[in-house]
Amino acid sequence: MNAIIEKLRQVRRGAMFIIEGPSGVGKGTIAKEILKRDPNIKFSVSVTTRAKREGEVDGVDYYFISDEQYNQYMKEDAFYECVDSQYGNRYGTLRSEVDSFLNVGEDVLFDMDWVGARQMRQKAPDDVVTIYLLPPSIHDLRERLEKRATDSQEQINKRMGMVLDKMSHWKEFDYVIVNVDVEETIAKVQKIISGERMKRVRQTGLDDFVNELIKEASAHE
Ligand code: 5GP
Repeated sequence: MNAIIEKLRQVRRGAMFIIEGPSGVGKGTIAKEILKRDPNIKFSVSVTTRAKREGEVDGVDYYFISDEQYNQYMKEDAFYECVDSQYGNRYGTLRSEVDSFLNVGEDVLFDMDWVGARQMRQKAPDDVVTIYLLPPSIHDLRERLEKRATDSQEQINKRMGMVLDKMSHWKEFDYVIVNVDVEETIAKVQKIISGERMKRVRQTGLDDFVNELIKEASAHE
């Protein structure tokens, strides 16, 4: 009996969690903390053609690639989803990156924009869970972007200009959290993840488990 309960814990279908929100809302911080605290969820490292920011590590934050390499991936149909951002940079999620986790029953966490989230939802509606983070105020958002100090003033202004456009997609997401307090937001995201893991379709070991219960019940008749 213990063995089958153990198997029930292990045999499951991984889910894909997408966290989105306007630049500076704290997606990166939240994602990093979730990954640090939960060994069963892995980060899907995207490819991008944008320049590496200070402190970013190739293969950890992104795979930083050239336009030529990006075009090659497009040709090979290697992307789950890909977008050209308004800032002229290109981003994409490699199928190989995601499948390596899902195939062994691990959950995957993404940091991507609403265009990518929409593509993913269309491709894998049963596997994708989307979370939108809203800022407590626009003032707060600008302050966070300025504190980050990794973007030029011109880039910050560009990003701020896109905020309203990006936020207009919040209703396309399954869950919405106003990120007032980082710890509170992390706790909320963890609850979402726990709940989603309990969904029947993700507990792929249930058939065997229930069959065992039926067998046991019959033996008692
Ligand atoms: P940043 O350049 O600030 O790291 O990211 C810019 C935007 O690209 C963010 O909204 C981020 O969520 C999004 N992004 C990062 N990786 C991907 C990806 O693989 N696919 C898509 N569609 N968007 C991504």
